[in-house]
Amino acid sequence: MKQIKCDVAIIGSGIGGTTAASLLLKKGYSVQVVEKLPFYGGRCQTLDHHGFRLNTGAAMIGDSIHGALCREVGAELELRVPNPVFKFRIRGKDFTAPPKRMWQAIIGAAAKDDAEADRVFSAWMKAITWAEPSYSMSMDDWARQYTSNPLVLKLFHFLTCGIGVNSYELPAGEFFRQITQGATMTWAYPPRGCGQFSDALVGAIKRMGGDVWTRCPAVKINVKNGAATGVVVQKDGEQIEIVAQTVISNMPPHRTVEMTGEECFSPGYLKDVNKILGSPMICFEFMSDKQLPSLEGSSCYCFTEYKRAFMILDFTPLCPEMSPKGKHLLEAACVPGSVYPPYDIKREVALALGDLRQNMPDFDKNAKLIKIRVARGDWGVTGNIPGIGNLSIKTPVYGLYAVGDRSAPEGWWCSLAALKSGRLVAEDVAKRFKPA
Ligand SMILES: Cc1cc2nc3c(=O)[nH]c(=O)nc-3n(C[C@H](O)[C@H](O)[C@H](O)COP(=O)(O)OP(=O)(O)OC[C@H]3O[C@@H](n4cnc5c(N)ncnc54)[C@H](O)[C@@H]3O)c2cc1C
Repeated sequence: MKQIKCDVAIIGSGIGGTTAASLLLKKGYSVQVVEKLPFYGGRCQTLDHHGFRLNTGAAMIGDSIHGALCREVGAELELRVPNPVFKFRIRGKDFTAPPKRMWQAIIGAAAKDDAEADRVFSAWMKAITWAEPSYSMSMDDWARQYTSNPLVLKLFHFLTCGIGVNSYELPAGEFFRQITQGATMTWAYPPRGCGQFSDALVGAIKRMGGDVWTRCPAVKINVKNGAATGVVVQKDGEQIEIVAQTVISNMPPHRTVEMTGEECFSPGYLKDVNKILGSPMICFEFMSDKQLPSLEGSSCYCFTEYKRAFMILDFTPLCPEMSPKGKHLLEAACVPGSVYPPYDIKREVALALGDLRQNMPDFDKNAKLIKIRVARGDWGVTGNIPGIGNLSIKTPVYGLYAVGDRSAPEGWWCSLAALKSGRLVAEDVAKRFKPA
């Protein structure tokens, strides 16, 4: 079998894989990334659909996390910040979220009176600045200690749906840990879709001498004496062995185990891998010939009266590059009633369309559905349901790392988690292995 050698072999070109690759190249390691799909970026790419640019996953990222990484590895990333960032529809009226003290203002707008607003916001501040609420109680149970107002409860539900989980299924501790120890940032759009972030990282990887091979699935992870020694890939009809000091897998963990051999892992690790489950989300991509009057004035509309569809992104006012000239591109997001399978997708779609019609009276007249995307399982909105326990970046096989949104510390979700895990892996590799 043909062999090539490098310091680091990376399986998968999602944000986790490309973050680790770009940071390790910067530190002087030789890196080869392989990707099974025809495009790189995984759940952070943007593909053409009849002239519309549709994201494969992430729709919004941010400068303080994604932009900062690009600057660090010498890549350029343009981001446009919506102004206002969010507009909320509360009791049929639009409420513009102010940039400062945003959540205090939004809770105040949804509360019945000042006493309720103070009670809820004081509890929120105490959870952030003093004691983290328990992981044994859901976010919804936490909020119900301070209010029974359905509008305020739906606000908290909106916040957890944003990362693909219902408020009654997310541990309260996990929610607040994201604010105190994870990452909060101002959301923004790359003008041609989130694939621009993957383009920026892959550009940096290539400039620093690395490479990303697409249409190149890994088929086997080689292990000798309990340590990873490389990867066998299928490229242009032949198998090639990439011999490496260390292997980083950006694949779903069950695929990493299959490809390495179950016998290489401890029973406890295999149990943890079996618990991993991607959070589901249904995205409705639709277009209109003009801006829908019911959504004027914001790129991100958030509802407080809904069964499933909690948010609509209107890309066009800020990023006209996302659609053919004169057309508007919009995306609505819906989290199923339970994030645990089985899912009744037909029912979920019907409920979400009902929400869109209720909150946008002009929906049937002016909007046309382009595509309904169901994200779940290995292609979930976040690779593991938040709060059920992620994996470590280190597998039981020496030198075999797991990178991606299932391998981040508690409180990190979605693309921020994938990026964080890539950073942690790059730091750990630098401590243990020297560039050849
Ligand atoms: C609908 C949806 C909406 C989202 N919205 C947002 C958002 O607005 N903001 C946000 O921050 N995050 C969002 N996310 C989450 C974000 O997209 C993901 O958390 C992030 O992109 C995951 O990156 P990753 O590196 O963990 O893995 P992935 O992107 O899943 O990458 C893994 C890669 O490994 C490849 N691979 C698998 N097996 C093999 C093999 N055998 N050989 C070679 N390659 C292989 C896959 O093809 C894939 O490219 C969203 C996700 C979805 C699905």
